[in-house]
Amino acid sequence: MARRERDSLKRSLFKIDRLRRRLLRWYDQNKRDLPWRGSHDPYAIWVSEIMLQQTRVAAVVERYQVFLKRFPSLMSLALAKEDEVLALWSGLGYYRRARMLHKAAQFVAQNYYGSLPKKSEELRELPGIGEYTAAAIASIAHGEPVAVVDGNVERVLSRLAGWDESAKLRRRIGELAALMVDPERPGDFNQAMMELGAMVCLPRSPRCTECPVAIDCNTRGEHKTQKRAPMKSVAIAHALSVRTSVRKSERDRGGREVLLEHRPTTECIMPGMWELPQLIEAEVPSEELRMTVRHAIMQTNYYVRIRTVFEDDVARLTLAKGERRWVAFGEAREMALTGLARKVLTRAHLLSTAPLDMIAPAREEDLI
Ligand code: SF4
Repeated sequence: MARRERDSLKRSLFKIDRLRRRLLRWYDQNKRDLPWRGSHDPYAIWVSEIMLQQTRVAAVVERYQVFLKRFPSLMSLALAKEDEVLALWSGLGYYRRARMLHKAAQFVAQNYYGSLPKKSEELRELPGIGEYTAAAIASIAHGEPVAVVDGNVERVLSRLAGWDESAKLRRRIGELAALMVDPERPGDFNQAMMELGAMVCLPRSPRCTECPVAIDCNTRGEHKTQKRAPMKSVAIAHALSVRTSVRKSERDRGGREVLLEHRPTTECIMPGMWELPQLIEAEVPSEELRMTVRHAIMQTNYYVRIRTVFEDDVARLTLAKGERRWVAFGEAREMALTGLARKVLTRAHLLSTAPLDMIAPAREEDLI
């Protein structure tokens, strides 16, 4: 940004001091009571920021607490098996984040004696920590005056400035955010900007009459709203195949097993996770239909039919994509199940009641 432009921004566009004061006052009075708020533990902030990427706050709240209970420190996460990390991530979606978080924790354990570096520049050097996450950790945990720019902040700033979409918008917004961040309370300021975007300056219907910084806003609702890409619909079907355990000790106790399939590690979505075998035919005769589930992954709504399939019919009716295993119900809940598999097994009451059941998706639209 040219100096003249920056000076003009300082003088006439925002009245930055006033905007900071108003925003922080609003945040102090209106911020949501979320479990990661108020924490200055860099590891806990890191976990929350990774979980919150592209995931609804409501879905994160419970899983964050369960995750931190099991992995209260970076070292405990680094020492865990990947399958256990993925199992606790189940239902949050975008499992690559969990894998990267786990790998980065191992890297920090090996190279930094288990403590995250303090400066955002050093944090950015770590695998799995980008500019956004580094700024969030450094500003919230250590008070470094660096700006956090996520989708919410980008939207708020472009509306405040009255900037339209352009190729240079991202760079300009980054510069503007850096200029605005409050030097005294950078962590709170960053969280306040994100909160404003999440609660007031909403993507389609901004609540400008409730906005604490409306006085400094150049658009106040008169902005161009980007149209959301239409969701695609896809119909698929999976087999729910259950049998009495063949292991004598289990059988004597009335133990039962469910058939699961391992997604090949070469898959780009959810590699290495366990799911119910997919049926060859998406249509399921009504007498065989066990349940229907709607499940969203990114821009696609999957309308999933679940068919009960006897063991003898599995080979004939399903697509064989990866290794298959009959798994005792109690074991299945500890495995790295896809969100869809966990949802179906939970609804069918095939997972024993256990801590992981508590984190079953709350809505059908939960991302895998
Ligand atoms: S006045 Fe409206 S458009 Fe401007 S920042 Fe506030 S909510 Fe967003």
